Order: sequence, then C-alpha cells, then structure tokens
Amino acid sequence: MKLNTNFADIAESYLFSDIAHKVNAYTAAHPEKKVLRLGIGDVTLPLAPAVISALHAAVDEMSRKETFRGYGPEQGYDFLRDSINGYYKSRGVELDSDEIFISDGAKSDLGNILDLFSADNTVLVPDPVYPVYVDTNTMAGRKIIYMNATAENSFLPMPDYSVDADVIYLCSPNNPTGAAYSVSQLQEWVDYANAKGAVILYDAAYECFITDDSLARSIYQTKGAKTCAIEFCSFSKTAGFTGTRCGYTVVPKAIAAQGMNVNKMWLRRQTTKFNGVPYIVQRAAAAVFTEEGQRQIKANIAVYQQNARIIADCMDELGIWYTGGKNSPYIWLRCPKGMTSWKFFDYLLENAGVVGTPGAGFGKNGEGFFRLTAFGSREVTEEAVARIKKLLSE
Ligand code: PLP
Repeated sequence: MKLNTNFADIAESYLFSDIAHKVNAYTAAHPEKKVLRLGIGDVTLPLAPAVISALHAAVDEMSRKETFRGYGPEQGYDFLRDSINGYYKSRGVELDSDEIFISDGAKSDLGNILDLFSADNTVLVPDPVYPVYVDTNTMAGRKIIYMNATAENSFLPMPDYSVDADVIYLCSPNNPTGAAYSVSQLQEWVDYANAKGAVILYDAAYECFITDDSLARSIYQTKGAKTCAIEFCSFSKTAGFTGTRCGYTVVPKAIAAQGMNVNKMWLRRQTTKFNGVPYIVQRAAAAVFTEEGQRQIKANIAVYQQNARIIADCMDELGIWYTGGKNSPYIWLRCPKGMTSWKFFDYLLENAGVVGTPGAGFGKNGEGFFRLTAFGSREVTEEAVARIKKLLSE
C-alpha cells in the first residue's frame, strides 16, 4: 500500500488534545485543586425544553410500526430544510430548500466539501483561525497561503487583488478572535471571489452571537454571493447540539465551473458517502425554529453573552487589551507581561487552576494572545474571573 504521506505534514496532535494532556497532568499532580475550564468551546447549558419534547416525540414515533423511519434522504428531511429556509427568509435571504443540506455538524462538512475541489487549488486561510481548515487541506496536499489577521486590521483581513486564490475561507464571527465582518466588508470579499472565479467557504457557526445589525449573519446578505459562496452553519453553538450533532450547509445552485454544477456535485457526494442525520435529531433541530424553541435558545445564548460580559469586564478592570466577546462567545486577549501564549497557559493553569486556549494554536499571528470562552457555566465563569483578577493584580 501507499499511504497519504501528507499526514506527515500536519501537527501530530490536535490543539485540544495537547491542552487536555497538560490539564490531565496538572490534575494528576494536584488532585485536590478544582480546575476551571474556559478552554474548549463546548456549551454547558442543556438542550431547550422544546428540543427535548421533539426528541421524545420522535423516539416514540420510532417505537411504532406505522411511524418508524429507516433510511432518510441523505441531504436531510424536507421539514428541516424548509424550516431552515424559513429562518433565512426571516433575515431577508431567499434560498431554495434544495440548496440546504443537513449534516451531522459543520466540522464534517467543512472537511468533506474538499472532495469537490481538485488538489491543485490554492487555498487562502486567515491566520489565526479554527485549525480544521488548514489541517484538512494539508491532508489533501493543497497549497495554503495565509492572510494576516492582526490587531492592526482588527483581525479582519480584506482581499488583496495581487493574491490569486481559488478557495477562500472566512469565519465570521471568528474563532478564535471574535472579530465579525460587516455586510459591506463581506461584499468586498464576494466581489473579489467572483472576479477571481474563486469559491468562498463561509463558516457561520457563531452567527447567533451577532447583536450588531451592521454585521453579517449570512454571506447571502451580500450581492453576488450565490455564484461564489458556500455557507456552513451548525446547531452546536446556536442550540447546544455539540453532543447531539446537527448542522447545515448551503450550496447555491448558481455556483459552477468547468461545466460542472457544485450543488449537483455536493448532492452526488453526499448520497454516495453519507447516509443522513438521524430522524430524531432532525426533529429536534426543527424544534429550534418554532416560536417556543427560538425563545428558549435565545435565553440560553443570553446567558453565554452575559458570561462574555463578565470576562470582558474583568479584562477592562485589569487593563488587559482584548477583542471579541460582544458579537462572539470568545474573548481574545493579549497575554499580560509579554508572555507567549503557551507560557500564559501554563501560568494560568499552575497559579489559578484556570484553563484557556493559547492563541498560538490557531496560527502564527495568534502568538502572544489567548482565548477565553463564554460557554462555561455562570459559576465557573465567575470563579475563574475572580481567580484571574486575584492572580493578575498581585
Ligand atoms: N466552525 C467553527 C468556527 C467552530 O469553532 C466549530 C466548533 O467549535 C465548528 C465549525 C464545528 O461545529 P460542529 O459542532 O457543528 O461540527
């Protein structure tokens, strides 16, 4: 056999495994100490009651011969695709339901979509960003070029026409920086992609955290996005589905190249390699779009937004520079006392028992920065903030 030796080019373990390793070593050495985790971006609030009722009802359906379901459509049931379509419509975006594909989460689709693009595409990725974009393209041996996201450009790199890229990743609100593009900034990206014949892979996993109306919640709020942009979204952060697993990807029918249609290719890919998301999970996801579901998930999101406020207030008090936290569940702060990201990680873990995420894990421009998440429980967030305040004001 011949192995895919591109795997030798990716970092041996995933960022969060490295963190887990260090935290495990710390807890083994200090079993009496309570570790507070504001590192990995996992949610802590339970599923909304409307979602739980829908799950129960769907489980009951599976128990009866007349309502039992076997294989479903690979691209998702119409009831969920139509609900998502209605959600877009309520924000002024017109789609056809067959442009919406249901998945088991944004991460899978972000990786799987690469089946559609040949290995000789040049990929443009912001630095820092969610590591999955770089790792999945490295596995396929694609050439990656980086665009710098720094404090100078408010962590929102804009197109440079002297750069030729075929596949462009944008993540807004960004993980890890929390920076989010305005509709007019995204318009510049869409114009650039259309001019270059490129595709934008737009990761909107955190769209529900946007509160500022000038910021984009979907790339389809711009003109011309339907000929160049694929949008990835997820119920993970919107509705606490990190363990339940459901997401959706919008692949417009107007994206085409070399006589091939990208929507048709994705349908072909999914029907070949994927057998759909469980019926009960899709029923649960559809409940998110009911009036009751929307009210309940918004209440949960408000809890996380308040956590973000608590962390941001602490940074203000300590005079630590940060961004994010307002239209995003992440606070992106400059490590105090000139520490590197991993040095600050160790310092915080050793002296305060608080776990965050070192910025360097998201790209070279993340060095010297640190990410704290608002997804912890209120108690953990408050206690972590109190410990950080005590440590850093010593
Ligand atoms: N995209 C971004 C930017 C993320 O931060 C995450 C998860 O943390 C995902 C996608 C993955 O989402 P899902 O749980 O739907 O796979």
